[in-house]
Amino acid sequence: MEKIKMSNPIVEMDGDEMTRIVWGEIKKELLNPFIELNTEYYDLGLEHRNNTNDQVTVDAAEAIKKHKVGVKCATITPNGARMKEYNLKEMWKSPNGTIRAILDGTVFRMPITVDCVKPYVRSWESPITIARHAYGDIYKAVEMKVEGKSKCELVLTTENGEEKRELIHNFSDDGVVMGMHNLNKSIESFARSCFSFALDVKQDLWFASKDTISKKYDHTFKDVFQELYDNEYKTKFEEAGIKYIYTLIDAAVANIMKCKGGIIWACKNYDGDVMSDMVAAAFGSIAMMSSVLVSPEGNYEFEAAHGTVQDQYYNHLKGEETSTNSVATIFAWTGALRKRGELDNNKDLVEFANKLEKSSLKTIEDGVMTGDLAALAQHDNIKRVNTFEFIKATRKTLEAML
Ligand code: NAP
Ligand code: MG
Repeated sequence: MEKIKMSNPIVEMDGDEMTRIVWGEIKKELLNPFIELNTEYYDLGLEHRNNTNDQVTVDAAEAIKKHKVGVKCATITPNGARMKEYNLKEMWKSPNGTIRAILDGTVFRMPITVDCVKPYVRSWESPITIARHAYGDIYKAVEMKVEGKSKCELVLTTENGEEKRELIHNFSDDGVVMGMHNLNKSIESFARSCFSFALDVKQDLWFASKDTISKKYDHTFKDVFQELYDNEYKTKFEEAGIKYIYTLIDAAVANIMKCKGGIIWACKNYDGDVMSDMVAAAFGSIAMMSSVLVSPEGNYEFEAAHGTVQDQYYNHLKGEETSTNSVATIFAWTGALRKRGELDNNKDLVEFANKLEKSSLKTIEDGVMTGDLAALAQHDNIKRVNTFEFIKATRKTLEAML
């Protein structure tokens, strides 16, 4: 078979620990034999980030802006322990945070489902994708403890010195207060990413807030979404046969439990934090969750939702057998290859990406799986395999499909 050619590159961001090992293995077994892989390579492994004073992360993000498609391996976010372990010059920021800030994107987390791992919610037939707004609200709030009798006000001073005041509460005793904010521009970027992603995957988009109680704050979110939808996306949604649905957050939560799935649920920052963990747990394993960052300009960065699987890496270094699930990392690659193929009108590449996804899922459905899934799956004939055996088995399934 002739290898598939790529006219434009994908921005490839290598990472750390067990996922770095998996990354190399996926390329060796599942990509290089079939594609003349065209990537612009950035090593986001912690050592190289440290050597370049983290410039490599910024360069990679800029490259995604240029080429529109990136794929990222999981990376270590340094903490005190990592400072010592890697002898770091500084406690470098999370690469995902840096890249998200540069691309101004929204993260969509999508469960990858297989027949033998049933979601805990019986009505869910297809995956539910969560989009979390990643700016403001309680994550950028200021707080105070109130001690004793006090009066607390919200004061806004405009550029020309005008003051607006609102009484928060006259405290007669101890309590707490919080001030938080958001930006219309950020809400609009979020909405835009959600609308374009929904069109991309042709799924209904849900958004919810508590606008009946929060008549200015949450209502602004509702209005920004609605205005953008009416002005720019309504016709496109109708043409694609999909819907935009706004409800109150409590109604959305109730409806999610009864829906069939196959939708995108856009969440305010806190709702997304909480609900993404609930949805992930209900679908099974963090190792079966993929993630894509979509910028309002239509740049895409694909990755697995899990981290570097540090504990298994140390076992690997000791020469012990590991059973790391590579499915989400494989899906990061297929997501990027498919998007590259769509943008470049490269049908072979799109078809290959689809087949590679199918073959990794078929391998599992045939009973061959890593330990995390073996512990969850309902299957009569489970063969628990190690990290490398799973990738090799997927290659076999793929070769039979091509
Ligand atoms: P993690 O790497 O996701 O692992 C947490 C646990 O989940 C693992 O110990 C393992 O459980 C299980 N797990 C996760 N992915 C798996 C896979 N592919 N196959 C099998 N089991 C899997 O999270 P963490 O231990 O909190 O973080 C480790 C490092 O990753 C940290 O340095 C953190 O900064 C980084 N991180 C990076 C990203 C990213 O780049 N997007 C995201 C999160 C964390 P068992 O131990 O039970 O097998
Ligand atoms: Mg959370």
